[in-house]
Amino acid sequence: MTELRLITGPGVYVLARQSIDHGELTRFLHDTGFPHWTTDSPCDGESVVEIAGRVCYRSFNGGRKHDDYVRHILEVGHGSVCEHAVWTLLITGVSRTLTHELVRHRIGLSPSQESQRYVDASGVAFVVPPRVLAEQQSWERDLRFGGHCPDYADWLSACSAALNCYLRLLGPPSDRMDREKRKQITEAARSVLPGCAETRIALTGNARAMRNLVELRASKHADAEIRRLGCAILDVMQREAPNLFADYQRTPLPDGTFDVTTPHRKV
Ligand SMILES: Cc1cc2nc3c(=O)[nH]c(=O)nc-3n(C[C@H](O)[C@H](O)[C@H](O)COP(=O)(O)OP(=O)(O)OC[C@H]3O[C@@H](n4cnc5c(N)ncnc54)[C@H](O)[C@@H]3O)c2cc1C
Repeated sequence: MTELRLITGPGVYVLARQSIDHGELTRFLHDTGFPHWTTDSPCDGESVVEIAGRVCYRSFNGGRKHDDYVRHILEVGHGSVCEHAVWTLLITGVSRTLTHELVRHRIGLSPSQESQRYVDASGVAFVVPPRVLAEQQSWERDLRFGGHCPDYADWLSACSAALNCYLRLLGPPSDRMDREKRKQITEAARSVLPGCAETRIALTGNARAMRNLVELRASKHADAEIRRLGCAILDVMQREAPNLFADYQRTPLPDGTFDVTTPHRKV
């Protein structure tokens, strides 16, 4: 049996975030008559949101502190200004099944996903579904039974059979084969890879779209694997932009994830 590489959770990396050109901000404030305006925003992404909001009402002459300003935006649902704050995440350790759901988010989120046609998946890893993983872990803890639980063993053997079939269809590597032929072989072979095959995806999104993603996917109604990712994205975004993501409450669920809710859905 081919040795399987298994994955038990996602990786989320913050590749890029915005930075303000302070020279240009100073020039704008000077030219528009507000040379003394400052903000106590914790990050440039949130500053951009506040500045965009203040442009709407020409309100650079004092008023609310930054945290109060952002809270007010969320309360009144002035969500369009949240579209000015943008991040790029690199997401690893997730299944193709998960990304099939992730890329359904059409507005304000731009995905670039690893290609199964171009990338040789001979060393592909498999994402253990949270429920199968939990069952296996409980069998490991229970010394009366020991070993692998039947669901886990079945799942492993299905992944192994799929990988062996993939490798057979791919055939031995050959330097003499032209690129087009190799692509045709890879695209036929990939058809037998299961939904739990690992993939990687770059995701650029604005804060409004990230909020919608969290609300739909870090929810008790969502699939367990994407809920785990939704919770991880919320953790990251709360570190990145604490005020833009401050209004979420987490209710623990039995599987170790959370049902995330907010009084300000779809701002
Ligand atoms: C628990 C759960 C179960 C699901 N089950 C299924 C399923 O069985 N089958 C299935 O196909 N999908 C399913 N989905 C996917 C779901 O239907 C959405 O496609 C996905 O969640 C993206 O949500 P969204 O449309 O809000 O996001 P986005 O596509 O990012 O859109 C954001 C918002 O923009 C607005 N918007 C976007 N496009 C339009 C438009 N064309 N016209 C008007 N307004 C628009 C809407 O207000 C929308 O909420 C499920 C999702 C969840 C969370």
